[in-house]
Amino acid sequence: MIELYKTKNEIKKFLTSVKKKDLTVGFVPTMGYLHQGHLELIAIAKQKTDIVVVSIYVNPTQFGINEDYHKYPRNQERDLSNLEKYEPLYVFLPADSKMYNQDHRSWITINGLSDKFCGASRPDHFKGVTTIVAKLLNIISPDYLFMGEKDFQQLIVLKKMISDLDFKTIIVPCKTVREEDGLAMSSRNKYLSQSDRYKATNIYKSLQMAKDMYTNNLTDSKIIKDEIKKIIEQNGGKIDYIEVVDGRTLDSMDIVQKGCRIIIAVYFGDTRLIDNIEI
Ligand code: AMP
Repeated sequence: MIELYKTKNEIKKFLTSVKKKDLTVGFVPTMGYLHQGHLELIAIAKQKTDIVVVSIYVNPTQFGINEDYHKYPRNQERDLSNLEKYEPLYVFLPADSKMYNQDHRSWITINGLSDKFCGASRPDHFKGVTTIVAKLLNIISPDYLFMGEKDFQQLIVLKKMISDLDFKTIIVPCKTVREEDGLAMSSRNKYLSQSDRYKATNIYKSLQMAKDMYTNNLTDSKIIKDEIKKIIEQNGGKIDYIEVVDGRTLDSMDIVQKGCRIIIAVYFGDTRLIDNIEI
């Protein structure tokens, strides 16, 4: 059984009855067009909690004016059919008009985190992400929030929001799910031409090579980043950013060490892809 809820009040009412029974609630927010990466979060949530709520909502406020909000892939019928194997499941599918007040004015920004890396290329993106997630956490009040490491900066930004603003939800990071050739699964992979789809496998290949360099005792971030850049550019990609960061704070690191992440954003054609690897 997949139960659909289209308004905040409907899902709040259902969850109030759940809380009375002392059941734990897990929450997986998504923008739909579900792939195995999303489904893995749901599988982990099902193992850890009694009631799993999935939201499918393409949040307009996290897209820039010239970004792909209107063409972002949507297929509700396929999504719901993909979810069937995780029954019972509770799916929140709000309409835009139901999510934001017409004169919405409140925004959350995480100083020093919302504005760098993806935030530098996509101003206001994280402001939209934090605000919608805060709204969803207030509506659903989950015990656990399951988020993918694929969107690593988003994970760190949301961890900080949850800690700074005393949300009671515990965030559970989940490993990146990849295609067989290593490309991180993403709803946006659909935009890639066949040849760019093939070339995009070099993103993860270059990250693995970087990790091997570290394993072989090379710790200079600049040399490692230059090598990644070389591989990506030789294969027709355009670097948006590559950085070696502390995996907890996203502070840039000159020397690679255990606990670092290498984070990257690359354009193949018009499609911007992100990935990362743990050191
Ligand atoms: P999205 O629908 O892209 O907003 O993603 C919804 C959630 O799924 C976020 O927590 C993402 O980090 C997570 N996610 C997306 N792709 C993957 C992936 N390939 N592996 C693991 N989690 C993912």
